[in-house]
Order: sequence, then structure tokens, then C-alpha cells
Amino acid sequence: MVNTGKLTGKIIITGLIELKTGLHIGTSQETLEIGGMDNPVIRDPLTREPYIPGSSLKGKLRSLLERALFATQAHNDIDRFFNKSMRTGGNLIRHHECGAENCTVCRLFGASTGAGVKENRPGRLITEDSHMTQKSKEQLEAIDTGLYLTEQKWENTLDRITSAANPRQQERIPRGTEFNFTLIYTADLPPKDTLFKSDVKSIFTSLRLLEDDALGGSGSRGYGRVAFKDLTIRYRPLEYYTEAQDEIQFSQNGEDLLTFAEKVLAALE
Ligand SMILES: [Zn+2]
Repeated sequence: MVNTGKLTGKIIITGLIELKTGLHIGTSQETLEIGGMDNPVIRDPLTREPYIPGSSLKGKLRSLLERALFATQAHNDIDRFFNKSMRTGGNLIRHHECGAENCTVCRLFGASTGAGVKENRPGRLITEDSHMTQKSKEQLEAIDTGLYLTEQKWENTLDRITSAANPRQQERIPRGTEFNFTLIYTADLPPKDTLFKSDVKSIFTSLRLLEDDALGGSGSRGYGRVAFKDLTIRYRPLEYYTEAQDEIQFSQNGEDLLTFAEKVLAALE
């Protein structure tokens, strides 16, 4: 019943990600430059500007929402809920993927199900790459750190007996830097539908959870704290695309993220 297969409209969420602490989203070893840093950040290959990959943001939002959803389950069976696993670099990575049409996580972030013939359900949420604002770029260009738009942070591990140090360097994007972000939710239900509301609220719940978590590497050492601000929500019904009907636009006026989302959902009913 819930999988209508119909495109009813889109919710476009835009705004700023502000770094409350330095951010490190690493890159693979193959792209290391000769004479470069030990731990460089990922950069746009053309502009050389550091950015936040949509996949990094999406992965973090999904993992936080999965754990929040698990907390609401009647059972406590971790293996039953986090039912899919893969091995990368010797690590076991478990996650949730049930494919149920009324499962918020699988609706938003997608799932592949089916035993014989694989049936992939694409997620309804698109998480775009986030690029640095012009203002932040100009501010960072004006200071000389020796690196383009980033800073170098030294980290130490001390031997517990001899106090011998093992210093290493890590590149990160400095605190205060801002990025433009865009999330696009493709709706298959009208805004008054309970699942539509639940999907949109869950997007904002995951953003709120991320504000008290960390993006990128070294989160437990204080890296990657972010805040989402100056949000705009646009609702574009199907008629926006087929008949050039106007979109409905809402701006966040200092409300917290969930209050803003609930206000928009009430107005769209
Ligand atoms: Zn699921």
C-alpha cells in the first residue's frame, strides 16, 4: 500500500554547515601527493578546495538514524536489527537494511532486498556534496597556514613508560568554516500522509543527532563537531514540474531544527 510508485513532489532542504571544531574527512592512499601530508583531507580534483562528500554526510546521518530507530524497537536483538554486514580492511561493518516500505531508514537511505532476484530500493533522500561558502574561502585564503584552505594539526601518542612521543600530522579544515549543503527528498505520498511527515521529521532528527555527534575522522578527539543553520525548506509538488506551479518556501527564523520541520509540515497539510 505505501509503495505508491508515484512521484508526488520534492522537498529541498538547503542551508549552512558550520564547523564548530576542525574537520578531517580523509582521502584514500592512492591520491596522496609526493611531499604531501600524512593524513590529507579530501579535495575537489579541479578546484583543490576541501569539501564534504555527500556520501560522508549520508553515511553518518544513516548510521545515527539506524541507532535511534533500533532504540525504539521492542526487541533487543542487535543481529536481527543490524542484519547486513560487510568486511572492509579487516573490520566487520554491520548495518540495518530490512527493505520494509514503512521503515524510515530504508525509505530514506535505500535498501537492497530479495533472495534470488535482487530488488534495489533507492533511497528517497539525496545528499549532495557540500562546498565551502565564498565568505569562508576568502577568510581562509587571507591567513597563511602553509596549506590551501586548511590547517595542519599535530597529534601525539605517548609511550606510557618512557614518555617517548610519536608525533604525526593531520590536515583539517579549521573551526568556523561554513559549507553550503543541500538535501533533496523525493516524495511518493502527499504531505498530509503520516509516512511523509515521519520521513521529513526523521531527516531533521538525524541532523539534530549529528549536531551532538561528529562528522569525519577523530570524532572522539573532538574533531568534526558541526551545526546546521539558516535553513530553507522548499516544497515542490509534482505540478511545479508539470505545470510550472509555484513552490512553497519556508525560512528558518531561529527555531530549532525539529520545531522548524514541524511548522513546515503543519503548513503543508
Ligand atoms: Zn529498514
